Amino acid sequence: MIIGNGGNHTMLNKNMKTDTICVHAGLKDNLEGAVVTPIYQTSTFKFQSADHGARLFKGEEDGYIYTRMRNPTVEAMEDAVAALEGGVKSIGCASGMAAVHLIIAATIKSGDHVICSESVYGPTLTILKDFFTHYNIDVTFVDSSNLEELKNAFKPNTKLVHIETPGNPTLVMSDIEEIAKLAHNNGAKLSVDNTFMSPIMQKPFELGADYIMHSMTKFLNGHADVVAGIVVLKDLEEYKKFRKVSNLVGGVIDPFNSFLVHRGLKTLALRVRKQAENAMKVAEFLEKHPKIEWVIFPGLKSHPQYELGIKQMTGFGSMITVELKGGLEAGKKLMDNITLFTLAVSLGGVESLIQHPASMTHASMGKEAREQAKITDGLVRIAVGIEDIDDMISALELALQHV
Ligand SMILES: *Cc1c(COP(=O)(O)O)cnc(C)c1O
Repeated sequence: MIIGNGGNHTMLNKNMKTDTICVHAGLKDNLEGAVVTPIYQTSTFKFQSADHGARLFKGEEDGYIYTRMRNPTVEAMEDAVAALEGGVKSIGCASGMAAVHLIIAATIKSGDHVICSESVYGPTLTILKDFFTHYNIDVTFVDSSNLEELKNAFKPNTKLVHIETPGNPTLVMSDIEEIAKLAHNNGAKLSVDNTFMSPIMQKPFELGADYIMHSMTKFLNGHADVVAGIVVLKDLEEYKKFRKVSNLVGGVIDPFNSFLVHRGLKTLALRVRKQAENAMKVAEFLEKHPKIEWVIFPGLKSHPQYELGIKQMTGFGSMITVELKGGLEAGKKLMDNITLFTLAVSLGGVESLIQHPASMTHASMGKEAREQAKITDGLVRIAVGIEDIDDMISALELALQHV
């Protein structure tokens, strides 16, 4: 039995550093003294009396009612992510896309306008372009690395700016601090998809963002065995507003996936730093390789926005985009000869992944549409894992000999 309905959280001192927060945040006290928050695999919670139930429903007493609304295992994980991002509360979602949906559903109504950066996760573009437009919501896509262009996109009814930085798959960066100022000056809120950086390398709230979201499928869980998302809030009143929407829409994370994500969070700092360290070396190796046309990685001085990365990030992440000499055929040859790197989409897990959009994810688009989306035939996306760097370099070296 849990002590009291809504037991105490482990007290974290305000001065504690990220690595400590990763390990300790969100643990709930329990009668048995379990060191890890147990999986409360239950849909509903017993009331002690009719009066107790009534008080819980009225919000006069703190406690659990029903898992769609609140569950101890889910809440433990949510509190941990909120602590890592420096927010007050967060809401676990069934996927990263459910988190995108929640932010828009909770902040936008018919007749409002949204500005979104053009280099965001594909389905984020699509949900705005093909789904929310059915509800009379106006959307403008901009190159959010260009502050002038962004400034000109505001309308009197702009309520939300949504950015992803570094963006997908071009790794273009957007200045969170400047964009937050622009949004606030125009009466809008700023939402940042922090999936690519994780709170270990970028803290959007410290730069003025209002909402943070993650696909926890990626770094936060980190083991390629969960699909989940989260929205982090820094204002309690806004949290209550978002929670109401989440309770009604119902796209929530379940206790078991919350448990897995919470376990992943304990090693987040270690994993993310090791991945970034490996990625730096892989990027440097590829940049010098004669069969590579160019490499985009925020940690390379050749990245056109290298200085911005230094300003707002404490690391460069572990996503690398490269262009092979030799186009489509070269891409296929690399995919068919590479070892160690798994041919798969997604990112942020402990294992290194590689994918070639022109022959894989974006093959059905056709060459012309791909070119319009700036997906060239030789473009390869690498998500660097935690394996030994020497093994990674030899796998790439060997496979590139076949290209
Ligand atoms: C994967 C991803 C999403 C979507 O998350 P799902 O968990 O797959 O729904 C959103 N944003 C970014 C940046 C992503 O990489």
